[in-house]
Amino acid sequence: MRNLWSKYFRLQGPKTVEKEKALDTQVLIIGGGATGTAVARDLALRGVACVVVERDDINAGASGRNHGLLHSGARYVANDAEAAAECQTEGSLLKHLAPQCVDDTGGYFVAVAGDDETYVADFPSLCARAGITTGAVDVADARHLEPALSGQTIAVYAVNDASVDPFKLSFEMMADAKSKGARLLRRTAVVDFARTGARLIAARVRNTLTGEETQIHADIIVNAGGAWARDIARLAGAAVPVLYSKGTLIVTHSRVARRAINRLRKPSDADIIMPGGTVSIVGTTSINIPDLADVRPTVPEVDLIIDETSAMVPALRDMRYVRAFAGVRPLISGDPAGARTPDPSSGALRRVEASACGSALRSPAADVPKPLADGSGGRDGRAVSRGFALIDHQRDGVQNLITIAGGKLTTCRLMAEKTADLVCERLGVSAKCLTRTVRLAPTIACAWTEPGLTPRNWMRAHAAEDSLLCECEMVPKSVVDSIAREIRLEPRGMVLADLALRSRLGKGACQGAFCAVRAIAYLYDRGEICADAGLRECIQFFRERWRGQQAVLWGEQLAQAELAEAIHCGLFGEEHVAHTAVGNCAPFTHDP
Ligand SMILES: Cc1cc2nc3c(=O)[nH]c(=O)nc-3n(C[C@H](O)[C@H](O)[C@H](O)COP(=O)(O)OP(=O)(O)OC[C@H]3O[C@@H](n4cnc5c(N)ncnc54)[C@H](O)[C@@H]3O)c2cc1C
Repeated sequence: MRNLWSKYFRLQGPKTVEKEKALDTQVLIIGGGATGTAVARDLALRGVACVVVERDDINAGASGRNHGLLHSGARYVANDAEAAAECQTEGSLLKHLAPQCVDDTGGYFVAVAGDDETYVADFPSLCARAGITTGAVDVADARHLEPALSGQTIAVYAVNDASVDPFKLSFEMMADAKSKGARLLRRTAVVDFARTGARLIAARVRNTLTGEETQIHADIIVNAGGAWARDIARLAGAAVPVLYSKGTLIVTHSRVARRAINRLRKPSDADIIMPGGTVSIVGTTSINIPDLADVRPTVPEVDLIIDETSAMVPALRDMRYVRAFAGVRPLISGDPAGARTPDPSSGALRRVEASACGSALRSPAADVPKPLADGSGGRDGRAVSRGFALIDHQRDGVQNLITIAGGKLTTCRLMAEKTADLVCERLGVSAKCLTRTVRLAPTIACAWTEPGLTPRNWMRAHAAEDSLLCECEMVPKSVVDSIAREIRLEPRGMVLADLALRSRLGKGACQGAFCAVRAIAYLYDRGEICADAGLRECIQFFRERWRGQQAVLWGEQLAQAELAEAIHCGLFGEEHVAHTAVGNCAPFTHDP
């Protein structure tokens, strides 16, 4: 396996692909999503040594597959006052502390003819009770400011919602943590734990590219594995009651509204239209799924999203959609009857008192995260609290394992603070949390996920030699150089997916049809890859893009996909390579 890896990717000295030795650290954090990277930053700011292991790459889970709504909390005022208050406080903090990650668009809650008028009437008082600022907007004024709103609009309230770039946020939190001594091991999965009595003495980790295994010894292990938290805990003989709630989102070709537009009703399917730079991200659904084996958007979900959201913005009915994606919310369900949940009376589960930062945890048995009072018993994903849970696995007989799960992207800082408080208590570290006051420093290598940034820079620079690799999103070679400089400091090499994750490459209308080939050619030029790695990379990249396109293929986007197929199969014959060389990686085989 190692030989195969070195055959395809040039070994750039010990910095690029190094053999991992056994590592010792104070804290091992499992999972490189918003939660794991936020925990790393919090601990690093307190001077605690930590290593983050991520089996794929930053934001490979729900943190890279969400709406990007920095919640004002208004969405949860009817059902989940605690989550609403957390979102309100944390949303405001993030705007102030990480403005480079936030587009402070503001938001509207919009009711249309036929919506529940009692809820519309109650909304301002529900917001006031949760401490959330809102104000009625005259419908004509709202339609003047947001011309895409329906003529059937009957009420509009303004709230402090904003758009957050989840990729930039996690990259920057990790970059800040690294600048203070934390380490990130990408493509490194925890596969087992070594245990002596009640203590985990090491985690066995596997490099997912080479298969190489090593051990990481840590005093405390933090499980920030999102929807996989249950599997990780199981490896240690502990339990986490995660409910898998799948949500699908679709991405428009162009942006339909300046603000975050929410349906003014109790949280339901398909009631948010988020601005995401040059596009809108529309959704979502909430479908309980039994496992994480094949999470992808489906045509019925796409149909439902378009039907529902077009009641607020009719243009969505005839819009061109470039892509769909699905993520899984790691909801913590305290349903005692659920086959996947532990007995709550065991006290394994503790929910954090949101308002009492730094205070002791509440009594566990009384505070199992509860399904909401609608009798659903926690089986309906929408009915489970969006609050988070900090689970101290001492109660499962595992002394040094802590799970942090549930919650929201919006509340990742608070989740990290509570986790780090508990970790520090255990380690006997007295340093206090600094993330409430210390701003997150912007880093240029983390900036390229921002829509519109690369075209602006490229046009200003007028550098004739800096040719564009991606024309849809205008990503030039210099952006690849900037990302490569950062990635090559990490011991896992660079592949096309790394570039796409850290930039807008492949995210435009052509979904990589042209830019993937150009970017691969440039990686050859730079000496990053050799032999036939480029072909393999290209096919894997297309396979991933294809998963996102299948559910939105009609009209112009279908023609676009056919053009891509003609280029890659008709011209390059990639489907033959796919079948012979990379097994089921064929992007153009029409899997169901
Ligand atoms: C459709 C959808 C829309 C959403 N919209 C919003 C929104 O608009 N606003 C908001 O605030 N929140 C939103 N959320 C919620 C938010 O995305 C999540 O709460 C948050 O991203 C969870 O982050 P996390 O780091 O805990 O988990 P994840 O991001 O899932 O991270 C877990 C990581 O652990 C890694 N991992 C798993 N197993 C292992 C292992 N064995 N070894 C090493 N690594 C491992 C995974 O690869 C993954 O990267 C949404 C969620 C979904 C699904």
